[in-house]
Amino acid sequence: MRKKIVVGNWKMFTNSATAQRLARAIADGIGSQTRATVAVCPPFPYLQLVAGVLRGTQVGLGAQNLYPLPEGAFTGEVSATMLRDVGCEYVIVGHSERRHKLGETNAFIQQKVAAGLESGLRVILCLGETLAERETNHTEAVLRTQLREGLKGIAPGAAARLILAYEPVWAIGTGRNATPQQAQVAHAFIRKEIQDMWGEEPARELPIQYGGSVKPDNASSLLSQPDVDGALVGGASLDATQFLAIVQADR
Ligand code: PEP
Repeated sequence: MRKKIVVGNWKMFTNSATAQRLARAIADGIGSQTRATVAVCPPFPYLQLVAGVLRGTQVGLGAQNLYPLPEGAFTGEVSATMLRDVGCEYVIVGHSERRHKLGETNAFIQQKVAAGLESGLRVILCLGETLAERETNHTEAVLRTQLREGLKGIAPGAAARLILAYEPVWAIGTGRNATPQQAQVAHAFIRKEIQDMWGEEPARELPIQYGGSVKPDNASSLLSQPDVDGALVGGASLDATQFLAIVQADR
């Protein structure tokens, strides 16, 4: 059975004091529970501080991005090797804010997926359609392209360290979540695509998170869908009480 995985994406929020306080509150609230896998992704400057707070707890550490080469003259960029060095276990790749606000292409995202997996990180690859794409019945075509191009050349064995996050763009930060039914339909489609690409076993094992305005009051209906294996949480992950309620939502 796939274990639920709930990850907080802190985006470009917090400062050194609030990041440590939030991490401490989450780690204390999680305690020794291991029913769901839990991780947080602070901004780069606070990774090491938060790593210190999370050491020895049940909460993992992730980054929000990486650059796909180990080192070099790439001013302002951060490599997978550096992320591993400061204690990261996870990295988010292909978030819609990077696709749409920073112009990242599927080909560039594929390089990031490959570099992250190669370095031993667990890669969370985000996918999702815009509202216009949904309204013109292009959701499946968009998800298929993002999957096929984003995972091009990646071996099925990588499935063990890969996590997919279905994040409809129209649901991110808008307060308008996908209905549990919409999420289930998209997740089942994604799983079927993985099955066509990689075969039955990787498709069965691969966790697919839902992301997009997940809050304590909608989490349990979303997380109870058969193909929804957890949540990638933005806004609500900045409040320990809300984030912990989401982690506990599928009990
Ligand atoms: C996200 O940033 O991945 C996200 C899902 O944000 P929010 O929960 O705020 O919609």
